[in-house]
Amino acid sequence: MFEDKVALITGANKGIGFEIAKQLGVLGFTVIIGARDTVRGARAAGLLRSLGVSASPLDIDVTDATTIEVAAKAIGDQYGHLDVLVNNAGISGGAGAIPSRVPVELMRLVYETNVFGVVAITNAMLPLLLGAPAGRVVNMSSGLGSLTLSSDLDSEFGKLNILAYQSSKAALNSVTVAYAKELHGSGILVNAADPGFTATDFNNHRGYRTVEQAATIAVRLACLKDDGPSGTFQNESGHVPW
Ligand code: NAP
Repeated sequence: MFEDKVALITGANKGIGFEIAKQLGVLGFTVIIGARDTVRGARAAGLLRSLGVSASPLDIDVTDATTIEVAAKAIGDQYGHLDVLVNNAGISGGAGAIPSRVPVELMRLVYETNVFGVVAITNAMLPLLLGAPAGRVVNMSSGLGSLTLSSDLDSEFGKLNILAYQSSKAALNSVTVAYAKELHGSGILVNAADPGFTATDFNNHRGYRTVEQAATIAVRLACLKDDGPSGTFQNESGHVPW
């Protein structure tokens, strides 16, 4: 069903991104492993190929306009279109400081990857997504980006106050809605995914979910039928409050 489809996953050399690439590859997608490090990207793509997945690496640092431009041209030259873009690359910026102690520079750093990087990649890939019959964009958000949950002091997230990361994912949710609105009627569906607290390098493997569980919602949103939703924020159980 997905044999002629091409998916780009940013930050796919490890963690949840690698697992999303693996699951899409097993479904038949040709997967492009976006990685900011050539060696790590090649290793991840090689591992997927050894599992029978059609995978190739592509140098993409989501904070580097040149790598994004070169990557978009390479995908255009090789495939002529892009069916799925998973904006997965993300950084936490650390969770230590209370908001009033967070340096603005740290905020900028986190936003460069988690927000501006997503906008830059999406804009660069949009002509290729529009060239596909049914483009899909999945933005890897977080329950920590939910304003509803984080302002509820009784919820799991209400006890956390991680200014840079949480506000960057709330901004990403807003970016998701903005693109969904712009692309309404174009055939492209744009949604945000919440993978849940997952054991990866991101949190020194303290998460209680597996990457297999975490990737499920991104894969589902990447494979939506044409009458699927757009401009939503979902985890594997359904809609997450904004
Ligand atoms: P991870 O294991 O730390 O992987 C992050 C990936 O992003 C790595 O491949 C990393 O590359 C890449 N990356 C970081 N900055 C990049 C940049 N500037 N350009 C290109 N790639 C970059 O983290 P993860 O847990 O898989 O997280 C994946 C996504 O899920 C993130 O957006 C995260 O915010 C989100 N998320 C995670 C959790 C969780 O509990 N783990 C929960 C909610 C949401 P390098 O290997 O080169 O560093």
